[in-house]
Amino acid sequence: MEYGFLAYIENRKYARKSFQTCSILSSKNNMHYLQYYPVDIVNGEGTRCTLFVSGCEHACRGCYNQKSWPFSAGLEFDEAMEQQILKDLKDTRIKRQGLTLSGGDPMHPRNLETLLPFVQRIKAECPDKDIWVWTGYKIEELTGIQRQMLSYVDVIIDGKFEQSKADPALVWRGSSNQNVYRVHKENQRIDFVQIL
Ligand code: SF4
Repeated sequence: MEYGFLAYIENRKYARKSFQTCSILSSKNNMHYLQYYPVDIVNGEGTRCTLFVSGCEHACRGCYNQKSWPFSAGLEFDEAMEQQILKDLKDTRIKRQGLTLSGGDPMHPRNLETLLPFVQRIKAECPDKDIWVWTGYKIEELTGIQRQMLSYVDVIIDGKFEQSKADPALVWRGSSNQNVYRVHKENQRIDFVQIL
């Protein structure tokens, strides 16, 4: 998502280090990511870890993060990267409220093959951390594994970027057609409460 991609705390030193690490270690899946920011105060509430995954098929007109479209872009998301994010979420020196997943589109079914077990792991190891997700899908379009993912998501920002509705003054969104929802789960029922 273009809003999230630009709105981050710069940490190029860390990114270079992670690139070197990821190029050496073997991986257990094929998801890729473009950037990871271990400390981010822009993409969601509080201080967060933010991962920008690769792969998006929405092809929004005006998307200025087109390099995120190929699923093979960036670095392979491997066990070392999972461990690093979990370590950052557990860090008591800089307390993180949670993890933000942006992209690209984290809710693309191909990425969810990796992200669904990963968010399950986060909720098991760090139950007090929240998970925010940016997606180009509308919530009413979500099916199958995407709805399974919602069981572990606390906030979702949905919808494609629409250039004619772009507004830089919007909080956590690039265009006014996109909405921010808190995801409530109770008795296997999922409800969305729009907060923006
Ligand atoms: S959902 Fe649209 S704006 Fe976001 S990365 Fe994909 S094409 Fe770009």
